[in-house]
Amino acid sequence: MTTDQLHQPLTPSVPLAAHEHGWVVESAHHTSQGRLLYVRCTGCGVRRVDLQDQGDRPPSAISRPTRGLAALGQ
Ligand SMILES: [Zn+2]
Repeated sequence: MTTDQLHQPLTPSVPLAAHEHGWVVESAHHTSQGRLLYVRCTGCGVRRVDLQDQGDRPPSAISRPTRGLAALGQ
């Protein structure tokens, strides 16, 4: 490996269309394991389910982002 190879820009590992999702809570309810949050990205519209444990910790995702059946044309 030469020095020039070390200074080449890294190839992006994500497509250019990818972005950091900006989640907003559409609905929420309490369960025995914590607060279940149904969130949607304001940028691309994908949805995800998060679980917020009791306490002040931030929510963690318990589902993958999905566009739902509407995006499949059904
Ligand atoms: Zn998004």
